[in-house]
Amino acid sequence: NPMATRRRTLLKVIVLGDSGVGKTSLMNQYVHNKFSLQYKATIGADFVTKELQIGDKLVTLQIWDTAGQERFQSLGAAFYRGADCCALVYDLNVAKSFDSLDNWHEEFLKQANPSDPKTFPFIVLGNKVDIDGGRSRVVSEKKAADWCASNGNIPYFETSAKEDYNVDEAFLTIAKTALANE
Ligand code: GDP
Ligand code: MG
Repeated sequence: NPMATRRRTLLKVIVLGDSGVGKTSLMNQYVHNKFSLQYKATIGADFVTKELQIGDKLVTLQIWDTAGQERFQSLGAAFYRGADCCALVYDLNVAKSFDSLDNWHEEFLKQANPSDPKTFPFIVLGNKVDIDGGRSRVVSEKKAADWCASNGNIPYFETSAKEDYNVDEAFLTIAKTALANE
């Protein structure tokens, strides 16, 4: 019975990064295939879910977004509790949002306190690669890749929530790395 080998796995993913980098937009594009240029700092729900099949496993990704509290760095304990993967997002047209990755990375490790911080699955997303066809970027691919390499070989994707570029690929990698760490 092939169904007997199927297991449903719930993976909690939290998305961190400076306000305005596109965290909510990436989630909306991935889960609802929608994008809006209108800026909404808050959303109603704590998390959204998406089901996907990985090998013989049915995975439910539970993706937690902030409601704008990242501006004050006061995300509650419930936000971090039990996270299986942490996506760190920056805007590759805004230097400060890349510089903030260190803080978000540290803050996650402090708050979520994973049993093995060295192997905990992170992913980095450099978003808004669509703007000006990439001509207004201020963070080079090499700089981002170097940061990822020196923080435990974190997978790195350049994405556009607007153009739906690399969004599915990034979240699939999130699911796979979280699953591999189960
Ligand atoms: P958050 O604060 O990190 O959740 O960022 P939002 O998802 O609210 O996005 C902030 C602003 O950037 C909004 O106006 C979005 O429409 C815009 N935005 C988000 N992602 C992209 C993208 O990939 N490309 C472009 N051009 N704009 C984006
Ligand atoms: Mg948001």
